[in-house]
Amino acid sequence: MNATQESRQGGARPIAARIVATLGPASESSEVVAKLILAGITVFRLNFSHGEFAAHLARLQTVRNVAHRLGRPTAVMGDLQGPKIRVGKVAAPGLMLEAGQDVVFRVGMKEAAVEKGVVVLPTTYAAMVGEVAPGQRVLINDGAIRMLAVEADLGRGELRARVTNGGLVTSGKGINLPESDVKAPAITERDWVCVEWAVENGLDFLALSFVREASEVLELKERLSGMCSVRYDIDKSGQGASIPVIAKIEKPQAVANLDSIVQAADAVMVARGDLGVEMDIAKVPVVQHRILAACGQWGKPCIVATQMLETMTENASPTRAEASDVANAIFDGADAVMLSGETAVGKHPVLVVETMRRIIEAAEEQVLSEFRDAKPPTRMIEQRYRTAALAHGAWHLARDLQAKAIVCWSESGGSARYLSQTGFAVPILAYSSSGRSTRRMGLLRGVTAIECKPPPTGRLGDWATLVEKDLLTRGWVKTGDSVILMAGKPLGVARVVDSMAVMTIGDPTSGFRA
Ligand code: PGA
Ligand code: MN
Repeated sequence: MNATQESRQGGARPIAARIVATLGPASESSEVVAKLILAGITVFRLNFSHGEFAAHLARLQTVRNVAHRLGRPTAVMGDLQGPKIRVGKVAAPGLMLEAGQDVVFRVGMKEAAVEKGVVVLPTTYAAMVGEVAPGQRVLINDGAIRMLAVEADLGRGELRARVTNGGLVTSGKGINLPESDVKAPAITERDWVCVEWAVENGLDFLALSFVREASEVLELKERLSGMCSVRYDIDKSGQGASIPVIAKIEKPQAVANLDSIVQAADAVMVARGDLGVEMDIAKVPVVQHRILAACGQWGKPCIVATQMLETMTENASPTRAEASDVANAIFDGADAVMLSGETAVGKHPVLVVETMRRIIEAAEEQVLSEFRDAKPPTRMIEQRYRTAALAHGAWHLARDLQAKAIVCWSESGGSARYLSQTGFAVPILAYSSSGRSTRRMGLLRGVTAIECKPPPTGRLGDWATLVEKDLLTRGWVKTGDSVILMAGKPLGVARVVDSMAVMTIGDPTSGFRA
């Protein structure tokens, strides 16, 4: 057994990949939230597609209170619904559609009806009638029900479609139009209300659904910086947003514009649920691989989402394929993996997180058992982005000295992010006096965040003494081990990280202290 395995079995070293859990009725109590945080959740997702603000607020407050009590920085992400088209009201128990029958979507319908034997459905997106051309597919309920558009009658505001794959249509089911050039804005009126709510309540991330191009991400970021007094600077380009924006890749147009979207966003999600409906499902694994690679080049955290441990919504164990899916996402470089219905409405919200953590642990034991190759964010280094270059330098120091940990003072989170993206096999400890920064580090692979005040002197040497104590307490190091330190002066205010030092545990003159 090597040292990594020993310390892991002792539970000293946390898993590197992060787990995002969607909050819902199954996971909203303080008791469950506490268990989820202790099981390794660092980011919770509020899904604005479902529920009222009162429910979101109660969940947000529960997470904040529990995280505070446990002393674990924990982020909350708001997920904007975006231009998701839905079926309008359908009276229970719904309407059964059979292959071969015709269905009409009609503008202005309040509720579904059957007229002379023809099912007439309301839709939340009136322009659908004019934007779907004959021959294009209309998919309902994640593609379970499939139709082909036959003809549009703009005068009557009707779109007729023929069912090719039947099923039960119920209220509010999602509609996907994979072949149509849908003109709906990326950020709807309702989304803007959610954005305001997110700003008022200080959410840590906003996810934008159904992104098609980079300008949509930039529009949200611009509006956000105008709405907030504190800017969250992510790149030296000055493209700042007060709440980092996660671009959800779930449309073929987004895949076509991948590079510019990744560049514009603060983080990315491989939203396999809608992606698997909007595109040929056979291409989803390939697209996942490409998105992860693009994020690695730009140094942006990437979340792999949807159906990761789906069977655990009902069952107490996952399928072999699901266990492999989680492990393969780790092998492929995912920064985070996400649980959706499994934690929101599932029967085993805590067990599913524990299971995911164990799969990640086993996968990482494999990939982190020896020093990995550096995986610097090449696109940032090409642009001479200093923090990325320093992190790359730290990687070489760490490799040559076989360092046991990398430690940074990362007031706004930039150094932590680039260290995380460089691909260390050893843990990264990141300090900040900003609660907001430490919460947002919850998406960074390999990073353990610590919120604390800088030493009153602001001197790097005084911080190093504190770091040495923290590392020994955590059991990550022993006397004689090397650790790499990265920071800027004075601590706690510096926007500029420009100093690096090697600390030898037990040598009081090392690590900025001479
Ligand atoms: P959703 O996004 O859960 O908000 O639909 C994720 C996905 O589509 O995979
Ligand atoms: Mn989706």
